[in-house]
Amino acid sequence: MNVFVTGGAGYIGSVCVEELLNAGHQVTVYDNLTEGHRSAVDPRAKFVFAQPGGDGSLAQTVAAARPEAILHFAANALVGESMTNPGKYFQNNVCNGLQLLEAAVQARVKKFVFSSTCATYGPPERVPITEDLPQRPINPYGESKLMFERMLHWYREIHGLEFVAFRYFNAAGASERFGEHHRIESHLIPNVLKVPLGQASHCEIFGTDYPTPDGTCIRDYIHIIDLAQAHILALAPGKAGFYNLGNGDGYSVRQVIQTCEQVTGKKIPAVEKPRRPGDPPKLVAGADKAIRELGWKPKYPKLIDIVSTAWNWHKKNPNGYSD
Ligand code: UDP
Repeated sequence: MNVFVTGGAGYIGSVCVEELLNAGHQVTVYDNLTEGHRSAVDPRAKFVFAQPGGDGSLAQTVAAARPEAILHFAANALVGESMTNPGKYFQNNVCNGLQLLEAAVQARVKKFVFSSTCATYGPPERVPITEDLPQRPINPYGESKLMFERMLHWYREIHGLEFVAFRYFNAAGASERFGEHHRIESHLIPNVLKVPLGQASHCEIFGTDYPTPDGTCIRDYIHIIDLAQAHILALAPGKAGFYNLGNGDGYSVRQVIQTCEQVTGKKIPAVEKPRRPGDPPKLVAGADKAIRELGWKPKYPKLIDIVSTAWNWHKKNPNGYSD
């Protein structure tokens, strides 16, 4: 299939592009490289640099690529940043996303696959979280992704644009070639691994007074290769709707740090800090729907294996991508 991938130079997008190419798809990557890296784009893909600003070039680029499907990864995705700069999140994730939806309709794209998030749920009534639970985000990041989900609904109703929206839990791990390199790193696992890499003296725990067994936040970590496989399954005809992607296992911040110690064989000191605004205490996926309806089967369900692949990549690329 001919596939157009926004954000294909980013962390999740780069691995998805690699897996799409491995599965025999043709890929055009569209990325403005503010978060992504040129060297994270698989050389087998065609790369188009996204010019900033809404000058109509996006619609032309999509039309010229003549894709059968669009995979939309490009977004800002930091809970903490969204609590201080909400406008950035609504502008990029909603307004820029809307231009892409219009371009998709104009180019008669058959399938749209969207990277949504468990942050759309907010603190859930129960865990594991299933897709039918109410969505009540408590940060602008989650709100912006929920707004895009609603737009998708109306574009399907009115324009017949078929879509799959994946609500990712916590993406983690790496492939052999591509891994996690944010210019300003705020994610837990790469920050913790900076200590055994010799780049930090300690890691930080944001909040130790949550209503969880050890007082720290619980998240469901999912390997990016498994996320990528779900996207490939979503391209099959007739697949549509909203799906959670997670392993159904929750790990606290302290458990993640312990796992990193186990994988690296190094002691990782942690300093306790106040809560980070916008963080729900516990997010764990119920992903039975994706398993049942898409035939999805995660290859790396265990946190220790996920962290091991991240550690291998960071050891090989201690400074991340060079550009
Ligand atoms: N966290 C932490 N220290 C860090 C980075 C993150 O304690 O250096 C916590 C964060 O507050 C959250 C969890 O780890 O409870 C996962 O955060 P991350 O930013 O990796 O992903 P998020 O769940 O926000 O998408």
